[in-house]
Amino acid sequence: MAGLHSGEENTGCEGVATPAAAPRAAVVGAGISGASCAGVLAAAGWEVDVFEKARGAGGRMSSRRIEQGWATLGTPFLSAKREAFRGKLRDWARQGWIAPVRGSLWQGRATIHWGEAQLQNQYRPMIEPSQLVRSLLGGARLHTSAEVSAVAPRTIVLADGRTLADYDCVVCSMPTTQAIPLLGALPLLQERLGAVRYRPIWTFLMRWEGGPAADVIKFDDHLLNLAVRQVSGGPGLWVVYSSHEFAETYLEAGYEEATTRGASALMGLLGLPWPVEVEAAHLWRHARPVGALGGFWAGDRENRVAVIGDGVTGVGVERAWESGVRLAQAMQQSKEELMP
Ligand SMILES: Cc1cc2nc3c(=O)[nH]c(=O)nc-3n(C[C@H](O)[C@H](O)[C@H](O)COP(=O)(O)OP(=O)(O)OC[C@H]3O[C@@H](n4cnc5c(N)ncnc54)[C@H](O)[C@@H]3O)c2cc1C
Repeated sequence: MAGLHSGEENTGCEGVATPAAAPRAAVVGAGISGASCAGVLAAAGWEVDVFEKARGAGGRMSSRRIEQGWATLGTPFLSAKREAFRGKLRDWARQGWIAPVRGSLWQGRATIHWGEAQLQNQYRPMIEPSQLVRSLLGGARLHTSAEVSAVAPRTIVLADGRTLADYDCVVCSMPTTQAIPLLGALPLLQERLGAVRYRPIWTFLMRWEGGPAADVIKFDDHLLNLAVRQVSGGPGLWVVYSSHEFAETYLEAGYEEATTRGASALMGLLGLPWPVEVEAAHLWRHARPVGALGGFWAGDRENRVAVIGDGVTGVGVERAWESGVRLAQAMQQSKEELMP
């Protein structure tokens, strides 16, 4: 399709002018894809503004503060299949920010003790995952509680009505279904993103006593998928992940109904006595992409707008990180090629 590209050779940001001043980029969304893109650009000398509608960075890697620490209602594990992200995870592990997954998995009726070989390159955050994401931003400027309502060539419009212009490039780094409404000025790109849909997950922060003496529980069930014991927050604190089917059934249900259903499913599966204490719950409407576009980004070259994130690359932290890094590297390269 004319003017639209995904992946290797066209960034959607080519043709960037080469003024004496640093080139400027606006990144919408401060999940891991946006943060990695912004950080790489800032390190290369770009002036980067990151606009995040939430109160902090993280996206699906955000965490929740609780009385005794923090809990991860989003991504529980980080893994790397390719060397670039393995290197990043090794750096974080050296700093003590993440640690290799250890312990035991309870599945069905048996407990499996993980061997080291089984779990190479699998980590758990030891600090709030949102801080991992924040660390990627480097010298980029993060604007929080800054929802973007529209993106046009070189321009973003904030939900509070402000228009910020003169960006050499605009990058949307969010689930593609959330990017579509912003892209009314770029109908071809908008149409392309329409191929991706997302499946939801409800997650519940629950505290209970008893049950399997394991660190992770894998349910063989159509309602619940996984439970992960929290590293912070005191004893008996778990995050329980619903199946997509559960979340689709209770997509429009309120907090009360979803938590009641989730807690009763859990008690049935583990034979726990009532009541399980539910401390928080979150519905991730855009948890996992189906039909990701492929490549590292989708771009509108003429208008210098690109879309990154797991709706393009496919699900997972590693892929989302790669999309940000690869787009930033390509943007920088395009700029250098145009230098006199
Ligand atoms: C419950 C759950 C469990 C998961 N488990 C794992 C796992 O174990 N391992 C793994 O590798 N992956 C896991 N994933 C997937 C992984 O979290 C994602 O693939 C990855 O974090 C996506 O990053 P992203 O930057 O593409 O998007 P996001 O993290 O969604 O970031 C998008 C950001 O854009 C912001 N935003 C959206 N719209 C606007 C707007 N209009 N204006 C400003 N900001 C906006 C959002 O607030 C958000 O911060 C899990 C996901 C979920 C939900």
